[in-house]
Amino acid sequence: MKPFNLNEELRSHIKNIKPYSSARHEFTGTAAIFLDANENPYAGQFNRYPDPDQAELKSIISEIKEIPVENIFLGNGSDEAIDLLVRAFCEPGKDQIITTPPTYGMYKVVASINNIFNREVYLKPDFSLPVNEILDSITPQTKIIFICSPNNPTGNSFPTEDLIKIIRKSVKLVVVDEAYIDFSSQKSLTGLRDFPNLVVLQTLSKAYGMAGLRIGLATGSKDIIKILNTIKPPYNISSASISAAIETLKNPNKINSHREEIIREREKLVSELTSLKFVKEVFPGDANFLLVRVDDARDCYLYLKNNGIIVRDRSAEANCSGCLRISVGTPDENQALVETLKKFNSHNP
Ligand code: PMP
Repeated sequence: MKPFNLNEELRSHIKNIKPYSSARHEFTGTAAIFLDANENPYAGQFNRYPDPDQAELKSIISEIKEIPVENIFLGNGSDEAIDLLVRAFCEPGKDQIITTPPTYGMYKVVASINNIFNREVYLKPDFSLPVNEILDSITPQTKIIFICSPNNPTGNSFPTEDLIKIIRKSVKLVVVDEAYIDFSSQKSLTGLRDFPNLVVLQTLSKAYGMAGLRIGLATGSKDIIKILNTIKPPYNISSASISAAIETLKNPNKINSHREEIIREREKLVSELTSLKFVKEVFPGDANFLLVRVDDARDCYLYLKNNGIIVRDRSAEANCSGCLRISVGTPDENQALVETLKKFNSHNP
């Protein structure tokens, strides 16, 4: 089999694209007077454009994650990275991606927006990865295989050997979405530098507690990261987000203790939910949510909603009939959830 060749996989016009050269790219030193970017000269907190390379934030993330800066792309959420990857690699009306439902819905939405066929290879009923079926579904038009691990909404991680088998054998771009990796017992794939066809997505939205800032990461080969940086909007992350993220990352102890508490609370929720009669199954969760199969998902959802608690009804997703997805909250929020569900239990003897 031919090795992965980035130049052959990219859309041909993307290979030679010249990025927009912003004022902040053309001059990066210090100066007394900046009259180069048509900014408003009256100083407020945000009258200047942000650093298009997010250099300071990237170097902090690089240190935390032990990934070289040149292997990191920062996007306006990892959703931006998903969109840019599809636009860089997939020719509208011709190319295809592979996704493994039930999974994160944005891969499919981005494919539809870009007129890319989304070949769905369903997870097995126990939500394990159908490795051989994925490999068998690859066609010459397949450009990207998206795999989410830990998977949303099922909450399970896939074995590293399965992921590596797909990366090794597919010789296609494999995007492993690790949005929830920090809650997982499994190791991240970002340490694997030998695979030119691997991109790993992570985010500051989950374990780092910064969903409102919209900062996501794509890590991969220098060449792929360079392409993403070339085609991104020049100022894709705002100054407010950059500075808030830098400030928040200065306190890793707080981030870690919240992460550990969420994991402890998740395990506590597993045992409390399992004891409820109308709960048929609590799927083992490796993220900051649990997928729970109940007797009547709609009824249970509405009962919770009427009591001021909103969960996600995922019962329409493949192999998820009767399933609710419940995010792990604070200890008080989780207790309120369990108490409300106990009342629902007694209404459904
Ligand atoms: N991937 C997965 C699996 C997600 O669940 C989400 C958000 N729910 C994202 C990516 C997007 O994250 P971000 O906030 O970084 O755009």
